[in-house]
Amino acid sequence: MHEIDRSESITVAGAGLVGSLLSLFLARRGFQVEVFERRPDMRRETVDAGRSINLAISARGLHALRQVGLEEEARRHAIPMRGRMIHPVSGALALQPYGKDDSQHINSISRAWLNKYLMTHAEETGRVRIRFRQRLQHVDFAAGTLSFLDEAGGATRQERAPVLMGTDGSGSVVRQEMTKLPGFSSNSELLSHGYKELTIPAGPGGSFRMEKNALHIWPRGAYMLIALPNEDGSFTCTLFLPFEGPVSFASLNSPGTLTAFFEEQFPDAVPLIPELTHDFFHNPTGTMVTVKGAPWHVGGRALLLGDAAHAIVPFFGQGMNCGFEDCVVLDSLLSRHTRWEDVFTEFFHLRKTNADAIADMAVENFIEMRDSTASPRFLLEKQVEKVLLNAFPGQFLSRYTLVSFSRVPYRLAYQVGTLAGGIVSELAEGLKRAEDVDLDRAARLIRERLVPFVEEH
Ligand code: FAD
Repeated sequence: MHEIDRSESITVAGAGLVGSLLSLFLARRGFQVEVFERRPDMRRETVDAGRSINLAISARGLHALRQVGLEEEARRHAIPMRGRMIHPVSGALALQPYGKDDSQHINSISRAWLNKYLMTHAEETGRVRIRFRQRLQHVDFAAGTLSFLDEAGGATRQERAPVLMGTDGSGSVVRQEMTKLPGFSSNSELLSHGYKELTIPAGPGGSFRMEKNALHIWPRGAYMLIALPNEDGSFTCTLFLPFEGPVSFASLNSPGTLTAFFEEQFPDAVPLIPELTHDFFHNPTGTMVTVKGAPWHVGGRALLLGDAAHAIVPFFGQGMNCGFEDCVVLDSLLSRHTRWEDVFTEFFHLRKTNADAIADMAVENFIEMRDSTASPRFLLEKQVEKVLLNAFPGQFLSRYTLVSFSRVPYRLAYQVGTLAGGIVSELAEGLKRAEDVDLDRAARLIRERLVPFVEEH
């Protein structure tokens, strides 16, 4: 059995968001950390991060940053988003608040800024060395060795890695190597939609050309456009569209069809995206995948965290938040165990059902965002939900609130959220205005269904 020895060096594969934060946690526990990253150093060269330009950080991610003293600075660079601003094809915009009041909001933050900030703080501990342009190619778990392609020089090198943390993202080589071993499984489900990033530049003097403190959505059923604000006054838009079909990346194959489609479906966005045609035909089309595998670790030698273990689709804004929560859980296990195998085994047991739950909720939220947000019935239910959140604090909890504004395990959020959603649906039946909701009946339903469930768990 491999005892935890603080004089031993730990190897981390991948200096993305999770690998960088994890290195910082490990350094604070006294370990030396060697990080191998495929890309060049994004603090010195412009690197295509390959993923969204900005992302939403909420309670779980902020809590993780708080543990390493970085929350405050991150908040200074983040823009609060208090709700969804719905853009219909025609007619007025409507804000659907995320929580019971403005204190419950999610935050838009730059992926590149956050990644650089985490790398710099990890290195400043004096215990973390990040080596760039090192592409992991092969892992020999029995021998405890790795082979890397040095992308600068072209040579392949071997490194010893008695303890390996695989944070190399959704296409993880560490995971692929694990699944070659007996008893390991991994299933990757590719979404039939892809995404394309487009830009709404800042207005005069760095002003925002739409409401700054909201996540904008143009829900259109089979597809949707969203936009998140950036610090410089611009917005990054993401168009989610099927790869194939009547309205798809395949069908929008000329500037003419693209412009006609936008003018018909997103008329208010067209004047805000001056480089629409250029961005659409030059920016890469991203893919989205759900990865579910088991058991995420090889004895006490190697462990997967973040997207490498459990990539999810982005519609709940939780992939990074979940990966940051992994780091907090691993850190707390390091204070309780003396053997790596015990840490890794418990980590897998604690995280697996929760990762599966948020993966499923993220897929369900895709339908909610692109479809339901446009319906009057959904809007009414959201309003009823808000009334209940305020009328029954601590007793009535919605799925969105539990996922984004609390740290209760995702599995519990899924179960409680489903019961809560059922109560809202029943109460909204036949209702014209949310204020008219029957609070006595609500109290009874909450007492009968939610309270016993929460007490049981
Ligand atoms: P990654 O960020 O993928 O980092 C992996 C790192 O490993 C990279 O630096 C990569 O270069 C490196 N690497 C890969 N292979 C190798 C190799 N062979 N050798 C060495 N290094 C390697 N999450 C949220 O919480 N909120 C959001 O709003 C949100 N929005 C999103 C929007 C989109 C469009 C997408 C696609 C994702 C979104 N996510 C969001 C999810 C989030 O991006 C991921 O969950 C997060 O990036 C996972 O971090 P990670 O470090 O595990 O993986």
